[in-house]
Amino acid sequence: MADTSLMPIPGHIDPVPVPRDVTPRADGRVDLLGLPRPRIAELFAAAGLDAKAAKLRAKQVFHWLYHRGVTEFEAMTDIAKTMRPWLAERFVIGRPEIVLAQHSSDGTRKWLLRTADGHDFEMVFIPDADRGTLCVSSQVGCTLNCRFCHTGTMRLVRNLTPGEIVGQVMLARDALGEWPKAGGTMAGLDFDDEDEAGGEGHYTSDGRLLTNIVMMGMGEPLYNFDNVRDALKIVMDGDGLALSKRRITLSTSGVVPQMARCGEEIGVNLAVSLHAVSKEVRDEIVPINRKYGLEELLQACADYPGASNARRITFEYVMLKDKNDSDEDAHELVRLIKHYKLPAKVNLIPFNPWPGAIYECSTPERIRRFSEIVFEAGISAPVRTPRGRDIDAACGQLKTAAQKMSRAELDRLADEKQAALG
Ligand code: SAH
Ligand code: SF4
Repeated sequence: MADTSLMPIPGHIDPVPVPRDVTPRADGRVDLLGLPRPRIAELFAAAGLDAKAAKLRAKQVFHWLYHRGVTEFEAMTDIAKTMRPWLAERFVIGRPEIVLAQHSSDGTRKWLLRTADGHDFEMVFIPDADRGTLCVSSQVGCTLNCRFCHTGTMRLVRNLTPGEIVGQVMLARDALGEWPKAGGTMAGLDFDDEDEAGGEGHYTSDGRLLTNIVMMGMGEPLYNFDNVRDALKIVMDGDGLALSKRRITLSTSGVVPQMARCGEEIGVNLAVSLHAVSKEVRDEIVPINRKYGLEELLQACADYPGASNARRITFEYVMLKDKNDSDEDAHELVRLIKHYKLPAKVNLIPFNPWPGAIYECSTPERIRRFSEIVFEAGISAPVRTPRGRDIDAACGQLKTAAQKMSRAELDRLADEKQAALG
């Protein structure tokens, strides 16, 4: 057996070198999705509009993009008819391509998506009684190899761009039918197609299915910090998708040097994939622990800007049989949270097995006992119900499953995607 202490630690350099950059579009057009409004104005100016016109057009286009979900310039009715083909020659409004769309019997929906340059990644939508959560990917693959995570078995191909990250939210809204219809209503509100100001300000998440976003899909979001920040800024922007930062959670495996920036520059809720309470076990299952140890990680949590009893840090803890699930582990978890005075809640996640995984999920009795111990110490510790088990909803599984499917199976699922979109 190899001596693991001598093996290179993935993600050992900050920032992690990324094997591949984005390939520009073959037609030379620029995708406007994910670009800040001033950048769109700059591009319009560089293409020949005077500064004032560029600024106005950027404002109009931004509104059509994020408040109306429009993907064709031709549909932008308050932009002069002659201007629309001029825009379409130079720019596009992209969406990731849908390779597969699956609908679980419990309502969970999962998509395998493809970037314009041909790389596949995943997105999941989880409806609950009081909310609908979209689980968004930040990278194609991951540099870290957490031992229980299927994405961890894949190499990092590249970072997703802000457009590809925002594009996931746009695509989910497309699929859930959450854009106001032209001249129609949304959530009971009237939208006048010609009156831009009429639409602005009315647009809230009320009445929508997609209410929350978690950066918990493929990849480590804090190893793609700038793109994740720029994407979430558009998601939170009142003129953009206008989702409150309180409804967005970023999950990290523990990239300690970027955690304070996450609080300061993005300001969203933080979730930390803790999964173990001793150096020995965390080194094994979350190898970034060999670089940033438990003490450093928990201190960074204690220092997280904006954390309070009203805005707690979530500790994710995947339940692995005979690995991290004993009574002693639960007591140690409580001790650590109290020692660092953390405003914390714990999410206990039953391990979602995948072919080739070396762990098993803890028994339901064990999980219940673990939860009780944490709960009795005054810390909320709900057990997450596994969702979408019938559609390979464990992170990274759909991509691998699709690679193994026959052409016929893929064609059948591609047909289903139409139904899912309808
Ligand atoms: N890279 C980030 C975010 C993506 S992983 C992170 O690690 O936090 C999102 C969550 O799913 C993490 O808590 C991860 O530990 C968990 N997860 C990954 N594979 C899992 C599996 N097979 N069963 C249960 N949870 C899993
Ligand atoms: Fe990467 Fe998160 Fe999976 Fe670890 S759990 S391999 S950090 S995606």
